[in-house]
Amino acid sequence: MNTHDTIAYFSMEIGLEPAMPTYSGGLGVLAGDTIRAAADLKIPLVGVTLLHRKGYFYQRLDAQGWQSEEPVEWVVEDFLTELPARVTVTIEGRRVQVRCWRYTVTGVSGFPVPVYFLDTDLPDNTEWDRTLTHFLYGGDQRYRLSQEIILGIGGVRMLRALGYSSIIRFHMNEGHSSLLTLELLDEEVRAAGRQTVTDDDIAAVRQRCVFTTHTPVPAGHDQFPLELVDRVLGRREVFDRRDVFCCEGLLNMTYLGLNLSHYVNGVAKKHGEVSSHLFAGYVIDSITNGVHAATWVSSPFQALYDRYIPGWKQDNFSLRYALSIPKPHVWQAHLQAKRHLLEYVNRETNAGLDVDVCTLGFARRATVYKRADLLLTDIERLRHIAAHTGPLQIIYAGKAHPQDQGGKEVIRRIFQAKERLKPDIKVVYLQNYDMAVGKLMTAGVDVWLNTPQPPLEASGTSGMKAALNGVPSLSVLDGWWIEGWIEGVTGWAIGEDGRDGSERSKVVASLYDKLEHVVLPLFYRERERFLEVMLHAIALNGSFFNTHRMMQQYVLKAYF
Ligand SMILES: *Cc1c(COP(=O)(O)O)cnc(C)c1O
Repeated sequence: MNTHDTIAYFSMEIGLEPAMPTYSGGLGVLAGDTIRAAADLKIPLVGVTLLHRKGYFYQRLDAQGWQSEEPVEWVVEDFLTELPARVTVTIEGRRVQVRCWRYTVTGVSGFPVPVYFLDTDLPDNTEWDRTLTHFLYGGDQRYRLSQEIILGIGGVRMLRALGYSSIIRFHMNEGHSSLLTLELLDEEVRAAGRQTVTDDDIAAVRQRCVFTTHTPVPAGHDQFPLELVDRVLGRREVFDRRDVFCCEGLLNMTYLGLNLSHYVNGVAKKHGEVSSHLFAGYVIDSITNGVHAATWVSSPFQALYDRYIPGWKQDNFSLRYALSIPKPHVWQAHLQAKRHLLEYVNRETNAGLDVDVCTLGFARRATVYKRADLLLTDIERLRHIAAHTGPLQIIYAGKAHPQDQGGKEVIRRIFQAKERLKPDIKVVYLQNYDMAVGKLMTAGVDVWLNTPQPPLEASGTSGMKAALNGVPSLSVLDGWWIEGWIEGVTGWAIGEDGRDGSERSKVVASLYDKLEHVVLPLFYRERERFLEVMLHAIALNGSFFNTHRMMQQYVLKAYF
């Protein structure tokens, strides 16, 4: 075990395999892709997260589109190795035992990166405490704070118990793990044989911590009433340092991360700017997200890259040479990926989608600001476009958080529109969106659609997966697309002059205009030019919006 100069990467969710329900969406997939890139680049990193024995949830949709949720059953032992180490944390005055399980991610040239999954489901713990690592984003604030104690404080203690004595950086992927700073301060205080925290302790901890924020709205940030914190975490002297811990009677996990990190970043250039306004007084840099290329490229495109760009898995930058791949081969690979997707869709839904029909894809967390139903605003206009310009079919997927009523209604509205569009435009909504469905969809559709309400999409990564598979984006200018967009070259913008993405009626009109006058004519009547856009999506965006580039930036700017 390499225990020197380690970087500890903490995340409430990490998506490692589709069959391990230890993630809910973008944050967890990013964490998994980050770890895979670290392994490829031989960066001495270890991941820390919770086990989530019951997962996020399994999504079922009834015939009307109502979502219901079930716990996910999975056999932990089939994926993870239990380790003998045990640590304890104190929650509501009880000592809670924590164990951990290891998963090893192996890089492209064999370098291992371990990921440790913390688990309190042990016979010595009370029935309640045994459930604390069961549900990802389940339960109330008390449950969530307990989980964050296990992740942040338990996580640091577990790393020490495993022998990691010289960790040079602690990277908090979002505020859920910010309590790790508390444990690091306690370590400083203990080492100095003192009782109280000094400015030197704070400086020493800050020097070792890195914080990445992912949320552009204040309401999205984790915060807990101090009264609850008192009850669950217990009274601690460090809370007397109001400059570090307290904001108006609340413990705000983002401010905690900000106050105790020497480097803070947002996840796209625009998001860095938005965060700087949100958290005035802090220096917030940006490192734009990426995706792990070898994970998200479909097998037909893997074969194509292996042939024309050998070494692309070790060196994602070399994907810039994609422009020289013969177009007929690109089209063949795309059709193969499209067939894989349509076979899956037709088997699951009996929709009879047609490989010759231009296929739009949209898969995201079902929540109001993502505006999944924007495309379906004017059914008659859409029907007209399909009848006169070229046929269309649409594939949707996405889970709504169990408590997000608005999100659930978005799914319902898509189901209603689906009925009204029959038989002219086929619309399907795939159940239980996960990494496997995400991979099939981003590789197999012809155009990747994205219509969030700016500036709420911090980055977005599914469009990057699409780009790596030669699938251009048709997207509102928000998040990463502001950086990846070159009109008509890498894809297309939605919004008046490509700018105004927030006024709904204008966005809708722009979306229909682009489809009718630009995208569909290119797809059906100028296939060569459509293929050029596909190639530029790979060469300009696939070669850049990947986690190899992203990790190199973290190494240069944040870690060393
Ligand atoms: C990639 C991915 C996401 C994140 O995509 P966004 O574009 O950020 O919405 C979410 N969920 C799954 C299953 C994914 O594969």
